[in-house]
Amino acid sequence: MATKILLIYTGGTIGMAKDYSNQSLKPFDFENLIKYIPELSLIDSEISYTGFDKPIDSSDMNPNHWIELAEIISKNYEKYDGFVVLHGTDTMAYTASAISFMLSGLQKPVIFTGSQLPVGDLRTDAKENLITSIHFASLHENGKPRIGEVCVYFEYKLLRANRTTKINAENFDAFESPNYPDLGESGIHLDVRKHVLRTENEVRFSVNKNLNTELGLIKIFPGMSQAFIENMFDTPKLKAMIIEAFGSGNVFSQDWFKDLLRKKSNEGMYIIVNTQCAGGMVEIGRYETSEIFVEIGALNGFDLTTEASVAKTIFLLGQNLTPEEFRNQYESDLRGELTHLTEY
Ligand code: ASP
Repeated sequence: MATKILLIYTGGTIGMAKDYSNQSLKPFDFENLIKYIPELSLIDSEISYTGFDKPIDSSDMNPNHWIELAEIISKNYEKYDGFVVLHGTDTMAYTASAISFMLSGLQKPVIFTGSQLPVGDLRTDAKENLITSIHFASLHENGKPRIGEVCVYFEYKLLRANRTTKINAENFDAFESPNYPDLGESGIHLDVRKHVLRTENEVRFSVNKNLNTELGLIKIFPGMSQAFIENMFDTPKLKAMIIEAFGSGNVFSQDWFKDLLRKKSNEGMYIIVNTQCAGGMVEIGRYETSEIFVEIGALNGFDLTTEASVAKTIFLLGQNLTPEEFRNQYESDLRGELTHLTEY
């Protein structure tokens, strides 16, 4: 029996056309998009289509759109064997990470894809990305989907969604998973690397739509202004601040900065330490310049990408957790998004 795939169109370059009045790219509707990919009718899967009423550039995505998308998947979960989400590349890694946290007990593939060139362009990468995503989403073994997690498929690589980051604004090869192996590859055959796939213990599928965006993200750099940093930390209602620190979690050691971190931490703000390096992980306390984080009990982001860290924090802030629960969950591997130092 042919597998049933639901294609969910949210917007992005893949479905954009040129507005010749000012040469900018604007999203167009789904009917137009599939007109450009007649090959879809040749695929041995039953494909149905749905999506946002108004497709958007992914720069306009926000957590309300994540909820809308999670609702579409949840409403259709029993009816389909897999889901392919067409999404702009700019914030795909954020949305895909967020969806990975919002869905639990997932036993079916949810594959995000998009393209660098619009579908109507002669040299477009849209067709390959879309068609192969559908193929990956259709793979079955012993009557069950082979992939049971949220992924990003782009330019021959299948990646774990919450390990993914957009690394190139020009090349077709635009995504990378710096700290976790690729889950699959498209060559002559579709190669799925079973040993690195996630197996979900929870079997009851559910969607958690409680999110909270009272967080900040600050990337530090040498010579940063004290006033700027203080203003960021003084943002009203801020519950968590993610600090993208140097290297393995190091920061400048001026007293005013340490005092600020102590004060905010005492007031109950979650201080989260990530690294601004693309690869490797945070090791709080390795250098003297990260001892302040030991002192205030900052949360360790290990090897989380910025995208996964932001999505995870928005998700956990929405769960009404005690500080202890928040710490435990943030520092735990919830959906395959994080590696602990001992596993390196
Ligand atoms: N600005 C576009 C978007 O993210 C870029 C793309 O799709 O590649 O929606």
